[in-house]
Amino acid sequence: MAREDIVDLFVIGGGINGVGIARDAAGRGMSVSLAEMNDLASATSSGSSKLFHGGLRYLEYFEVGLVRKALIERETLLRAMPHISWPMRFVLPYHKDMRFEGGTPTSKLLGAVMPWMKGRRPAWLIRLGLFMYDNLGGREILQGTTRVDMTTDEVGKGIDDRFAFAYEYSDCWVEDARLVVLNARDAEARGAEVMVRTKVTSAERVEDHWVVTLQDVETGDTFERRARMLVNAGGPWVEDVIRQVTRTNSSEGVRLVRGSHIVTKRLFEHDKTYIFQGEDGRIIFAIPYETDFTLIGTTDADHADASIKPECSDEERDYLLNFANGYFKYDITVDDVVWSYSGVRPLYDDGAASASALTRDYVLSVYDDGAPMLNVFGGKITTYRKLAESAMEKILPFFDNDKGDWTAGVAMPGGDFPVDGVQDLIDGLIVDYPFLDDVWAKRLVRAYGTEAGDVLGDAGAVSDMGQLFGANLTEREVRWLMAHEYARRAEDVVWRRSKLGLRMSVAEIGQLDEWMQAARAAVKGDA
Ligand SMILES: Cc1cc2nc3c(=O)[nH]c(=O)nc-3n(C[C@H](O)[C@H](O)[C@H](O)COP(=O)(O)OP(=O)(O)OC[C@H]3O[C@@H](n4cnc5c(N)ncnc54)[C@H](O)[C@@H]3O)c2cc1C
Repeated sequence: MAREDIVDLFVIGGGINGVGIARDAAGRGMSVSLAEMNDLASATSSGSSKLFHGGLRYLEYFEVGLVRKALIERETLLRAMPHISWPMRFVLPYHKDMRFEGGTPTSKLLGAVMPWMKGRRPAWLIRLGLFMYDNLGGREILQGTTRVDMTTDEVGKGIDDRFAFAYEYSDCWVEDARLVVLNARDAEARGAEVMVRTKVTSAERVEDHWVVTLQDVETGDTFERRARMLVNAGGPWVEDVIRQVTRTNSSEGVRLVRGSHIVTKRLFEHDKTYIFQGEDGRIIFAIPYETDFTLIGTTDADHADASIKPECSDEERDYLLNFANGYFKYDITVDDVVWSYSGVRPLYDDGAASASALTRDYVLSVYDDGAPMLNVFGGKITTYRKLAESAMEKILPFFDNDKGDWTAGVAMPGGDFPVDGVQDLIDGLIVDYPFLDDVWAKRLVRAYGTEAGDVLGDAGAVSDMGQLFGANLTEREVRWLMAHEYARRAEDVVWRRSKLGLRMSVAEIGQLDEWMQAARAAVKGDA
């Protein structure tokens, strides 16, 4: 076995953490292979609330370090990907009867010094939290907190009259699944090998390296890769990879906590998100989504096993509807729900009693038993880039590589334009491709940024875009997604590379899938 046949890193898992580490390592000149057993972002990384946020409520757990790290990161990420991420205002309606989640360190402290509050969250405490939120994280782009009169402001329309005022603060939105794909593409552009629908079935230490056995899940074919170090970014499967794939003896574990979201038809006209506090002390968001919809989530429910596909139960759906109905003047019913999705948080199990109390911060551990392995526990979309840097700190001592951190300030594919430059890109695209309408051009710019023209190529008319699959999805775009963004099946295209599944019929999605299968078979036949 020649040394050059052994890559430096083998990454298991194509969620945000796996691709983030692969990109960072490849950019430092390391040789990297990554395998994802399904589609990129098919697990937790497409099931999030899609916020680059500091996590206001984690302040109540005194997780100031985590909140600060995440707050600083928001603007770094926004600058690197202004197509798939944008600033968002959050409206927090206030009422004096709002309660703490039981048992948070802050509620215990307040219960001791102000017992008459009986678990209620006072307005001054929220204001203090927001003051910290505004000032911990070196804000330059995002607007600070303001107080809003709900009786006169448009955000008060449709909200129950008992909320006389609200606080408004900033965080950012991000298209989570596209974030994963763009990181994978950038990793590949820097030399990494990215394999989708390829499962790591075993990894064995042989002398000073790993022999990784892989299975192409579509054909059943097996093959091997060799690597000096293994990175286990298996998300909800992190424990399975430790115990079953690598057969490592470890007491570390994760607690799987399911979070579900429902999508309804659009519930309000403005582009701000509501953050509602419930009687159980939890919070949920009602977020403007894909122009015509509202996204409501999330829940916190223990999830038994990573192999069980997370789905929003009727109970979770009703919980979210009841929660939101406590705020909206009109009643949202089951009939308003057009879609739902669920994800499983793989939280590092530190023995906390409640799911909400488990740390949202990441934990990295290294086992070096001849050939080293790094395990990734937990994390947030928001901190994936910092997590990758921390991972590199643990990885680099095993290699003769002293390249420093490099990812801050480096644009993602298509993200090389100013944060306020989206409208200019849309206008420019319509000039270059006059057959596009505003809605179509905006969707393309929000997905592909400065690469939107590469997707459209030399098309001079709609007829040049090839087959139309539904919504404004065309053959030319699908071919681009298959060639450049690892898309294999219709679900990859309509639920992760885009959210056109909300606008396409089941029959249209089925036809797209048949077309994609045929197109792949034709390419294989030609090869
Ligand atoms: C409901 C919910 C809401 C959230 N909201 C936010 C939010 O708004 N903001 C935020 O910052 N964070 C949020 N998070 C957290 C964030 O989504 C996760 O921390 C992050 O997506 C975890 O990424 P990951 O790469 O570790 O895991 P995953 O995305 O699950 O990726 C792990 C991958 O490993 C693959 N894999 C496993 N075993 C193997 C194997 N043997 N071979 C090959 N591949 C394998 C899996 O198929 C999977 O794709 C939320 C999480 C949830 C559940």
